[in-house]
Amino acid sequence: MTETEVQRQKEIQQAEELLFAGPQALGFAKGLFQGHFVSDWVMPYPRIPPAQQTELDKTLAELREFLDAKLDPVAVDREADIPREVIDGLGRVGVLGMTAPKGFGGCGFTQMANCKVLEEIGSRCGSTSVFVNAHHSIGIRALILFGTNEQKQTWLPKLVTGEWLGAFALTEKEAGSDAANVQMHARPSEDGSHFILNGEKRYITNAAIARVLTVMARTPVPGSDKTAITAFLVTPDMPGFEMLEPRMPKMGIRGTATGRFALRDVKVPKENILGPPGKGLKVALTVLDFGRTTFGACCTGAAKTCLRLATQHANTRKQFNKTLGNFHLVKKKIARMAADAYAMEAMTTMTASLIDRGLEDYMLETAMLKVFTTERLWEAINDAFQIHGGSAYFVDLPLERMVRDARINQIGEGSNEVLTSFIALVGMRGPGMEFKEIYDTMLKPSRAGIGRAWTAGMHRLGATVRIPDVPVRSAELKSFANQLGRLIWRFNFAVNRALIAYREPILDLQLVQERIAGAAMDLFASTCVLSRLDAETQFGQRNGESPASKNYAAELFLRQSFRRIRGFLAGLSDNDDKAVLKTADSVLG
Ligand SMILES: Cc1cc2nc3c(=O)[nH]c(=O)nc-3n(C[C@H](O)[C@H](O)[C@H](O)COP(=O)(O)OP(=O)(O)OC[C@H]3O[C@@H](n4cnc5c(N)ncnc54)[C@H](O)[C@@H]3O)c2cc1C
Repeated sequence: MTETEVQRQKEIQQAEELLFAGPQALGFAKGLFQGHFVSDWVMPYPRIPPAQQTELDKTLAELREFLDAKLDPVAVDREADIPREVIDGLGRVGVLGMTAPKGFGGCGFTQMANCKVLEEIGSRCGSTSVFVNAHHSIGIRALILFGTNEQKQTWLPKLVTGEWLGAFALTEKEAGSDAANVQMHARPSEDGSHFILNGEKRYITNAAIARVLTVMARTPVPGSDKTAITAFLVTPDMPGFEMLEPRMPKMGIRGTATGRFALRDVKVPKENILGPPGKGLKVALTVLDFGRTTFGACCTGAAKTCLRLATQHANTRKQFNKTLGNFHLVKKKIARMAADAYAMEAMTTMTASLIDRGLEDYMLETAMLKVFTTERLWEAINDAFQIHGGSAYFVDLPLERMVRDARINQIGEGSNEVLTSFIALVGMRGPGMEFKEIYDTMLKPSRAGIGRAWTAGMHRLGATVRIPDVPVRSAELKSFANQLGRLIWRFNFAVNRALIAYREPILDLQLVQERIAGAAMDLFASTCVLSRLDAETQFGQRNGESPASKNYAAELFLRQSFRRIRGFLAGLSDNDDKAVLKTADSVLG
């Protein structure tokens, strides 16, 4: 085997251990790749239970009142700081411990309810939403999910009020997108009472203001010469903790304190290990699933702000003796923003509900949500900016700040390229394994193997011949449901074809992966929109709304999304991939 092949096998083995160990229930997104519409997870559209809705409404009212009075996003950006008064206020409203258990002082909110809170903050200030995400969605998440009762007792009560702040420290110079390449190491002390940590972390939100940091470091695997990543709770008062740069000056989300720090022989008690030793990467990926969900919520809030600003401007600014909203090229932008904002909200709610309802594995859906909402928001901001013309360029309007703030979204918590590839490969693994079983059996037949291959073959074939049923309740949505079912069938066919055509090299074919992931994301987004629209239509009919009160934005989204899916699938056979790669190679040298 060549060195590259050895490395490839190692990566495959790592991914298998990390992502696919344990029982694999068929979630919604994985089902799509197998040609199934796993309706139980997505229909009917999830609702926050009435008791929690009342609590949420109260919290949102309180939050809005507080933010109106105290949060000045312009000052946050200008001063490059979120005032302590704002942080304390967020703590008082409960935002900093929203999903933490009530027993430890948190609000015990579901992820769905939490997303509504983050949507509100995201609609106002990029810095504040990233600060809250860094503290609550990822900073204290490992403690909430993996902490022992004792650890939670010790740390959580002050973290949920904001008296202490949290941070999540994974990124290093050599471990950015390649998160598994953490170099910070943790050596056990001779008496086994603590670990000695050495290394540097960079780009860590809240690092300089956090009292507790979840830090990923490499520990030896007992009885072998291997190492694995372990999560530790580290506090900045530990001797050897050195803040190298507390606030790295930056383009956007300037109110957040993004820092760089070193640990030099820092002794961390073994009681501060979070989750199983050596399973830190799994801890990190699970934590990031939560971060990506609230990312979706914040982007939804910001997209709604774009829509509001663009609509106001298009209705008031006159050129050629007409308001801008009269021009079709402006209408087109407004319509797309409305359609996308509706979809972003539906997708966020649905993904959060998967977590709340106990789906074991939602990594595909959270990755899809993150890529989809960050890309849609970027487009919405660009469109709102364009509609505002030159005025958007000046600092008295929020749009130039929103552009700067939003740019991190496509990079942070997994760059969109890495996640796009991840979506395609994780999604295709299910059907890929079935094909592998069939191939392997053909090569060395055995009685048991033939049985397994036969089952796998029938499974594949079954999905290939059946168009999945998309069970909407509203008669007027049946046509959309049928189109969606047919597209899922075509998607599954395309996935199978790609697997047969490319086999293992597909692991490197990112241009193919991008189309497959793109189609999968739009299938998921369309499902969320259809489910939401179905629920709203049913509600409207029960409450005597006129059947004419159509939701144009939702329907436009479905049309545009279906068109994009058809485009992605067509691109699998009609593309310029070879020319693209040759050109890039000729430039890269
Ligand atoms: C403001 C800010 C706040 C942050 N907060 C935190 C935090 O709180 N905690 C934390 O741990 N980290 C944090 N980060 C780090 C962030 O998660 C990383 O920047 C991100 O993971 C990307 O890593 P990188 O910057 O090293 O880019 P690189 O890994 O160098 O990647 C650069 C680009 O290369 C491309 N690329 C890389 N790999 C692939 C691939 N396999 N296929 C295709 N394209 C690829 C992508 O386009 C990517 O954007 C923060 C970063 C910023 C800027």
